[in-house]
Amino acid sequence: MILQAKNVFISYDKKEVVKNINIDVKKGEIVTIIGPNGSGKSTILKALSRTLKPDKGQILLEGNSMKHMNTKAIAQKLAILPQVKRVPGDITVEALVGYGRYPHLGFGHRLQKQDYEIIDWALEKTGLGALRLRFVETLSGGERQRAWIAMALAQKPEILLLDEPTTFLDISYQLETLELIKELNQTLGLTFVMVLHDLNQAVRYSHKIYALNKGQVHCCKESGSILTKEFLKKVFRIEGDILEDVTNKCSYFIAQKVVQ
Ligand code: ADP
Ligand code: MG
Repeated sequence: MILQAKNVFISYDKKEVVKNINIDVKKGEIVTIIGPNGSGKSTILKALSRTLKPDKGQILLEGNSMKHMNTKAIAQKLAILPQVKRVPGDITVEALVGYGRYPHLGFGHRLQKQDYEIIDWALEKTGLGALRLRFVETLSGGERQRAWIAMALAQKPEILLLDEPTTFLDISYQLETLELIKELNQTLGLTFVMVLHDLNQAVRYSHKIYALNKGQVHCCKESGSILTKEFLKKVFRIEGDILEDVTNKCSYFIAQKVVQ
């Protein structure tokens, strides 16, 4: 396993919001965490990057406890894009992507030729070459999301943690972002752990899905087998129909009504 949560408990001000969670992520997998609002998805993602420390339990990166790891060493393996991101004022795409290099800079903190090459590579991978000198504020939602992913890529991590990378995007930009994630997974073998809101997109773009409910893992399944009427009722409190998509070899659901 490249990343694991083992019996993790997390609380805010003594209120326990993550209760005994276990998560296993294999190298090269796309793992998605889904669940209703407030079920603890962002909290667990933060714990997986050591932005938050668990009260109990362990987070293991390549089998080693993250507790005493050097922050720079973690950042060289793992990048996180939080749910709410603030763009520093008046910054170009190129400069934003350059921030991804900071965990790698030596004494003096100056970007070197090799860092600029990696920035070029990250811009190229995300199709932002032509926009590199634009101010981030002027980008469309989809382009901006790609710029954040480019910054994470410039960090040269093996694992990317993305918290709701498609929220607030128009449907075309949602698909564009998910297609980029799929391509980076397939071509570079990067491991992704993400939180998605849209259950159908989670099924289509992930290998494995963890469904959280009230701070606990309700179930963990291969994405192809997670959608059942029972599951929709228990986790999302909805009644729905399940349809097979033969072209994409997966299933979809259509919500019909809220279970009272
Ligand atoms: P999700 O991402 O699934 O919507 P979160 O992990 O953000 O859920 O939140 C889980 C629970 O923890 C919620 O009840 C939320 O109100 C609470 N919570 C999240 N962040 C904080 C915080 N900084 N301080 C206090 N409570 C928090
Ligand atoms: Mg959240």
